[in-house]
Amino acid sequence: MKQIAILGSTGSIGTQALQVIEEHPDQYEAYVLTANNRVEELIAQARKFKPEAVVIANESKYTQLKEALADLPIKVYAGSDALCQIVTENPIDMVLNAMVGYAGLKPTMNAIRARKPIALANKETLVVAGELINDLARFSGVPILPVDSEHSAVFQCLAGEIGNQIEKVILTASGGPFRTCTMEQLATVTKVQALKHPNWDMGAKITIDSASMMNKGFEVIEAKWLFGVRPDQIEVVVHPQSVIHSMVQFEDGAVKAQLGMPDMRLPIQYAFSYPDRLKASFPRLDFKLCTELTFEQPDTTRFRNLALAYEALHRAGNMPCIVNAANEVVVAAFLQDKISFLGMSDVIEKTMSRVSYLQKPTYEDYVATDTEARRIAEELI
Ligand code: NAD
Ligand code: MG
Repeated sequence: MKQIAILGSTGSIGTQALQVIEEHPDQYEAYVLTANNRVEELIAQARKFKPEAVVIANESKYTQLKEALADLPIKVYAGSDALCQIVTENPIDMVLNAMVGYAGLKPTMNAIRARKPIALANKETLVVAGELINDLARFSGVPILPVDSEHSAVFQCLAGEIGNQIEKVILTASGGPFRTCTMEQLATVTKVQALKHPNWDMGAKITIDSASMMNKGFEVIEAKWLFGVRPDQIEVVVHPQSVIHSMVQFEDGAVKAQLGMPDMRLPIQYAFSYPDRLKASFPRLDFKLCTELTFEQPDTTRFRNLALAYEALHRAGNMPCIVNAANEVVVAAFLQDKISFLGMSDVIEKTMSRVSYLQKPTYEDYVATDTEARRIAEELI
């Protein structure tokens, strides 16, 4: 029985991870569940899955959580320090980080130090501090298993290819809801339109990132750290049907792809069960219904965030951390109607040029960079 800590259990990935656990009660148990604010959902999950412990990051919700679970033998904690601590507990066999944003970095680091294998949905961890995380994981001998569908696809293509050279990783992108919009149209799109993703039902932040293509930019950075490839070996291709989840081209020219329905439960389950595959009841791909698979070049003039992410990857150091912090600020502002869709890229670009650049940042440097970049991005808005 694998004991899994789910960080961010009330979110889109978190709830789907619980569905995977529910399908395999003989294989997996939720050891700890955590949430930021959504205390009612966390209470319901705790009553159903009976974890050892629950953590609510927002301390003002502690009493409500504690009282609602008083009749069960579940330990109740609150605060982000408790969340960072809980991942180190002895019985935990794997930590699924399904939190959103920079807040996921510290718990990932703690879990790696405690030698817990990581199932990583929180891509911001690798965007902000990929080099640090890789060094730490190598030093501790801890595997990082991708949950992001594109990276899970690449990871699945790499099974059985140890020692074979990758020529290129090809990440597919749906193109999001604004794929065919002109610049004039993009200038006036709203959050309501941006929140309607054509193929995936996800949390608000990643849905906006998908509409702006910052999500794909982050995935390029994530791919570099997960698969040890150079930036020029990572290609993005727009594939609106989201049937091919990503591909790998090897040095003999062979291209392997992983295909399937757009359903995050498969990559979540594969991260849990790797190297095995487990029977699943998820909907199957029906080739009689998917009559065309099309491909387009991404347009970095209309979707400037993708170019900014590549630039950050080339400049390396704390630049991706700066882009991530500025992006978190502008996405929050866009969701509050305080900035336009195209204005987001302007603020990110200006923040990149104003925050002090560091070539070889330490963890403390990342914390300072994140704070400084947020302050500057806020001022620019
Ligand atoms: P979500 O907003 O639906 O859920 C986020 C979860 O994290 C919630 O449980 C929330 O309570 C918790 N959380 C948020 N901020 C927190 C904080 N400061 N402290 C503690 N807990 C906090 O997000 P999501 O769509 O599930 O995405 C989670 C992560 O997975 C993101 O990094 C995202 O990029 C990545 N991801 C998501 C999908 C998807 O299909 N949803 C696909 C690929 C990758
Ligand atoms: Mg993805």
